[in-house]
Amino acid sequence: MIFLPLIIFIFGLIIGSFLNVVILRINTGRSIAKGRSKCARCSTTLSWYELIPVFSFLTLRGKCKTCKNPISFQYPLVELTTALVFTILYTKILLSNGFNFFGIVSFLGASTISALLIVIFAYDIKHKIIPDKIVYPFIIISLASVFWRNVFGDNDMLIKDLFAGPALAAPFFFLWFFSKGRAMGFGDVKLSLGIGWLLGLAGSLATFFLSFWLGAIVGLLLMASSKTSLKSEIAFAPFLIIAVFIVGVFSVTLQSLFPIW
Ligand SMILES: [Zn+2]
Repeated sequence: MIFLPLIIFIFGLIIGSFLNVVILRINTGRSIAKGRSKCARCSTTLSWYELIPVFSFLTLRGKCKTCKNPISFQYPLVELTTALVFTILYTKILLSNGFNFFGIVSFLGASTISALLIVIFAYDIKHKIIPDKIVYPFIIISLASVFWRNVFGDNDMLIKDLFAGPALAAPFFFLWFFSKGRAMGFGDVKLSLGIGWLLGLAGSLATFFLSFWLGAIVGLLLMASSKTSLKSEIAFAPFLIIAVFIVGVFSVTLQSLFPIW
């Protein structure tokens, strides 16, 4: 059964390659499905072997073949991250639930949610905004996951799980409202609503603390390296999303974050 994880990893690379196109073209008016990829500088249409995930980046040594313009590290990073996340979800969800209907649908749902979060992660770093076209599907699938877990799975806390979305979004809403959008964007409020529904109350609480710690650590490191000042804006969604993956994959709880409790 070594082949299946390998197939899922390669499938993840291909999806990651597609996510790069989504990140590049969303809100630009360009169709995601139509039009071959081009070099960002010289507009040379890329040939099929320049589109192979990760490998083309390595064989081209990170440069455009025609104009030698450096290719962004975003491309191989998004491809490898997607492949890695899909493989982890395979072992966490498919192997533990078995290859039954519940296991397969759960795996496909978690993979879709992960793909949306990876797009939000990269897009927020690049543009300091969370695209509605990505965060709304995320919110809807996360809400569906509440019913999926509690009706078809063995969870039995429908009301608590439904409450978790607004509960996690509330502090972000107040941060957004009272800072007039300076401390937190409204996109973070929407994102946290979906995260609450995805992880439930316990997971949301752990994600809340973990994301602020990660944000504080990275913020201090950036200031120490004087790459940024206190005033400069740091996108917050990436910290939330890293926290979601840590909490989701390692089943982090508040007790494991605060052992004294
Ligand atoms: Zn070029």
